[in-house]
Amino acid sequence: MKKRITLWSEKALKFLKVTAVTLKIYLKAAADFLLPRTCIVCGRRLNLQEKHLCLQCLMEMPLTYFWLQSHNQMADRFNDLIQKNIGERKESYAFAVALFVYREEAPYKKIPYHIKYHGDISAGRYFGNILGNKMVECPHFDDVDLIIPVPLHWLRRLKRGYNQAEAIADGLASAMGVPVRTDLLVRTKRTATQTRLGLEAKAANVKGAFEAVAEQIQALMEEESGAEALTHVLLVDDVFTTGSTALACYIALRAVLPSDVRISVATLGAVGRA
Ligand SMILES: [Zn+2]
Repeated sequence: MKKRITLWSEKALKFLKVTAVTLKIYLKAAADFLLPRTCIVCGRRLNLQEKHLCLQCLMEMPLTYFWLQSHNQMADRFNDLIQKNIGERKESYAFAVALFVYREEAPYKKIPYHIKYHGDISAGRYFGNILGNKMVECPHFDDVDLIIPVPLHWLRRLKRGYNQAEAIADGLASAMGVPVRTDLLVRTKRTATQTRLGLEAKAANVKGAFEAVAEQIQALMEEESGAEALTHVLLVDDVFTTGSTALACYIALRAVLPSDVRISVATLGAVGRA
């Protein structure tokens, strides 16, 4: 009798699960009908299986493949910048990686734009997750202890309601199994938007705009010292153009972190020739 009841309850549970899945598909289809989702890049209507991009745009994404080389053009550019600004001091080589090549005229620039100005947090997480899944395959990223998104000034964060770099960081973190910390680095200067500035103006604009929260980092280092010391921090932003924002964050963090703690950078787009 007991066996029979168990069998029936198993059947009922299975039926409920199937019904829930079917209902979810119908609801998704109904939502798509009422509020059609479109591809961020080409604007075509997405089908049920597609997320944020249509299959064709996903396949044709101009990937950088930077994750395959520890010393790639983005990392070399970033390390040159660091050396120019830090002087003779020896630093751990900063690794750098981006998901796709960012070009002014290319339609893929719509991805970071969409996340930043349309507040599509879910797209931020989605593309961050794609990059994270590529990075977990790289031996040079397997010692990353924590992820720090490039912060917004608190007033801008309040006005916008979200930080696009944080969304990307969340996607990366879930793929890499590493925590995100938003309390270790703050933007103290409210800077003008970088988009229309020239190379030197960009660097001057963000110089000294960030500050590391020394007490929090010290506490973290002490807490970690018993087990495993902090070895590798990953800075996350939406796009790497001149590298001046990443550099300003790097300098702020380096003021508190010892020189043997590696500070690397990961972004969705990278301006480059690849
Ligand atoms: Zn498309």
